[in-house]
Amino acid sequence: MGLVEGKKAIIFGVANEKSIAWAIAQALHKEGAKLAFTYAGEVLESRVRPLAEGIGSQLIIPCDVTRDEDIDSLFDKVNGAWGGVDILIHSIAFAKKEELKGRFVDTSREGFNLAMDISAYSLIALAKRAYPIMAGRKGSIVTMTYYGSEKVIPNYNVMGVAKAALEANVRYLSSDLGQDGIRVNAISAGPIRTLSAMGISGFREMLNHVETKSPLKRNVTAEDVARTALYLSSDLSSGITGEIIYVDAGYNIIGM
Ligand code: NAP
Repeated sequence: MGLVEGKKAIIFGVANEKSIAWAIAQALHKEGAKLAFTYAGEVLESRVRPLAEGIGSQLIIPCDVTRDEDIDSLFDKVNGAWGGVDILIHSIAFAKKEELKGRFVDTSREGFNLAMDISAYSLIALAKRAYPIMAGRKGSIVTMTYYGSEKVIPNYNVMGVAKAALEANVRYLSSDLGQDGIRVNAISAGPIRTLSAMGISGFREMLNHVETKSPLKRNVTAEDVARTALYLSSDLSSGITGEIIYVDAGYNIIGM
């Protein structure tokens, strides 16, 4: 029997086969979970649908997390099909390209609000709809963060502030939803070459730096992250909530 046999999971954030969310989806699928996928636009549907159908998923639903009506409709459809949900994977972030280079002090109001809305508020918006249909099922919500929330990383800029808010969301949501038996945790992943990551100016240097300086002397893979997401989604982590778990080859522990 798989670690998440028969559990129902909604996966947010598959853009292509390099997405961290796709590695997580495959790990959950291998361990027996049933999956629903979301995509943010028509172009994305053409990339997400073949991947999702390839592992037998029937629920592939549009959802732009800036639109409450999309989120409501998604949860109606998922609940209609499954009558509840056990696992929610939030692997979504966005900032305009021009905000991910240059000086942080030049962050625009619009760029700040957009990054916060998509990358941080969306976790609350999804949890709000998920908890009534997760209650009593030992639900697990997992989101993705990065070390730039705590320390200054060149060019990460407004996304660092959004990730700090996201990590605080994890603590407040876990405190709120614990009474329903729902756990909320984040994975703080080291840099991984994905579509969004390549939008960060100087991303290759980040990869080189981690490879040289981290205890494991390598970068992490989406599969490293996926195994931890599987653990956080399963009963193996039944006593863990409100935590930020590092999957970063140990980089965060190094001072000098
Ligand atoms: P990715 O493949 O580009 O995934 C990002 C996803 O966010 C895409 O599916 C994207 O869809 C989605 N998204 C953006 N705006 C959205 C919206 N309004 N509504 C719904 N979905 C939206 O990149 P990734 O690296 O796997 O990122 C996944 C998560 O991991 C992010 O939270 C990221 O910050 C985090 N993370 C990544 C790294 C890394 O180095 N890669 C490290 C630590 C943490 P569209 O393509 O349609 O915009």
